[in-house]
Amino acid sequence: AAAAANVPKMPPFDHRPLPYEGPAAAEILRKRAEFLSPSLFHFYKNPLNIVEGKMQYLYDENGRRYLDAFAGIATVCCGHCHPEVIEAITDQTKRLQHSTVVYLNHVITDFAEALASKMPGNLKVVFFTNSGTEANELAMMIARLYTGCHDVISLRNSYHGNAAGTMGATAQSNWKFNIIQSGVHHAQNPDPYRGIFGSDGEKYARDVEEIIDFGTSGHVAGFISEAIQGVGGIVELAPGYLPAVYKSIRKAGGLCIADEVQSGFARPGSHFWGFEAHGVVPDIVTMAKGIGNGIPLGAVVTTREIANVLTRRSYFNTFGGNPVCTAAGLAVLRVLEREKLQENAFVVGNYLKNRLKHLQEKHSIIGDVRGRGLMLGVELVTDRELKTPAKTEILHVMEQMKEMGVLVGKGGYYGNVFRITPPLCFTKEDSDFFVDVMDTALAKL
Ligand code: PLP
Repeated sequence: AAAAANVPKMPPFDHRPLPYEGPAAAEILRKRAEFLSPSLFHFYKNPLNIVEGKMQYLYDENGRRYLDAFAGIATVCCGHCHPEVIEAITDQTKRLQHSTVVYLNHVITDFAEALASKMPGNLKVVFFTNSGTEANELAMMIARLYTGCHDVISLRNSYHGNAAGTMGATAQSNWKFNIIQSGVHHAQNPDPYRGIFGSDGEKYARDVEEIIDFGTSGHVAGFISEAIQGVGGIVELAPGYLPAVYKSIRKAGGLCIADEVQSGFARPGSHFWGFEAHGVVPDIVTMAKGIGNGIPLGAVVTTREIANVLTRRSYFNTFGGNPVCTAAGLAVLRVLEREKLQENAFVVGNYLKNRLKHLQEKHSIIGDVRGRGLMLGVELVTDRELKTPAKTEILHVMEQMKEMGVLVGKGGYYGNVFRITPPLCFTKEDSDFFVDVMDTALAKL
């Protein structure tokens, strides 16, 4: 009882999970080992069998509730099984699940119009895909077709997908196989915490100029980057970097691609898209994850002039922009607006970041607290001067947090960064509970 008294108390939540009659975790784990790809991984010693979700909470096979601070990798933006999103999906499923591009359907055009209304400048033409990888593959292909050049520049520590082209743009050995991934140059990462020029965005931007001068013909297809690196451990690009790089890329004839797969869709709080915080307007924007609240959907948005390169051939995608997925997308936009989830991400994100900063003063293992809105990172290091990654310690802390009812992600090149990317309905009470649990778990190290 004395130990239990020290365990932070989860905020109350009015939901009774459905009875679960499926197989237990051990049986699923056995089947996973036998029938699923060996490349799959999990964070916990005994992976959880998650059988239900409701808003910012997940439930395991025993009906135990967990606060979800990862949201299926920044994907469930409105909350798990949000009633309005479910209703939109089921209504559309009853009417029409799939047709094909040769027929018209208003759900698809309505969602394209709604997405375009969220975009600055002339970014008005939408191509739908099924994933973030496909969106980035298409974006890089468009840049290459439009410019007639092959060279693409991306950032070290970035993640852009798992197909050949996007794996080439990705710059972390953890996520690459040794296959041919040609035509991508990786620039110094403008990472204020670990980067070689600290927070000096202009210095990093000069590295891109040097790549153009010394690594290409002087002309490039484009530049692709996240505004806040997600898989890379919640790294916000140094201020001043993107405007300077966009200028150099455009001077070299290239297009600027913003990968908003994680950092977009209201998550940054201060803005709807991550790039907006840097005062730039990209030529192509890619998105996925949050756009469908977990339904497979991605998109590339660009200008009419750039999109016209695809008229040289028929180009389509069987499932991309399927009416069920786009009905979900329309519902997501309605919910974000009505429930003011971007504003919530701003207010709650600031509150949570502030509390985490205070936690940093208490625990020397916290080397850095960073991020924006509800895309926050906490980097653990065993030595603040040397920034030695606390790779095993983070696993212990995660395990303890799970025991106390909190699920959180981790990432970064060294796997030592907590990735806090909850559903955008996360509350201040959830933040207090989260920080108290992290505090308790760190104290046990
Ligand atoms: N781009 C970014 C920034 C991502 O974080 C991811 C996935 O984590 C992708 C692209 C690839 O998206 P998907 O896994 O939907 O193919």
